[in-house]
Amino acid sequence: MGADDKLKEYKEKRDFSKTPEPEGGERESGDEPIFVIQKHDASKLHYDFRLEVDGVLKSWAVPKGPSLDPSVKRLAIPTEDHALEYADFEGVIPEGEYGAGTVMVWDIGTYRNILQEKSDDNATMVETLEKGKVEVELNGNKLQGGFVLIRTGNSEDSRWLLIKMDDKHADGDADIVQEKPKSSKSGKTLEEIEKDG
Ligand code: MN
Repeated sequence: MGADDKLKEYKEKRDFSKTPEPEGGERESGDEPIFVIQKHDASKLHYDFRLEVDGVLKSWAVPKGPSLDPSVKRLAIPTEDHALEYADFEGVIPEGEYGAGTVMVWDIGTYRNILQEKSDDNATMVETLEKGKVEVELNGNKLQGGFVLIRTGNSEDSRWLLIKMDDKHADGDADIVQEKPKSSKSGKTLEEIEKDG
């Protein structure tokens, strides 16, 4: 399946004559796959966690955002694959449109599939996603180190959990989303992004 087919739902949900969100197809894959976490002030504030896999961004909405505490499990609800160039999108989705509200590039960087490095079967991201257990090492501006994503059921829309792995970047006392509220891209707050349109 090409990136175009995977983006069918993404495109169907959006009217690109009204939303400033990217239609897809422009951003090239780099040497290393990227991840992005977008703070999204929609009807309810949440954090969209996205991993580049096979030309698109696999996506989960994480209501509380990531935690650096390995004992904390954060709910992650799968959402539609997003266009790769969505990783650079910061701005305001107009009222009345899907996902209306302000979007901030809260963190961005690259990642490694560490489950692949650990396992004998050399599992690709596509395979680990299918099996419902992903282990990645993030190299972002804010987030570093291992994170696990685990699916809690067997259906396609089962919920997942996002959990920090217990490594040197873990921190049981930090509240990263409170401590670092601003954009990784522009340094702006949500309010500033909203004001600038
Ligand atoms: Mn969202």
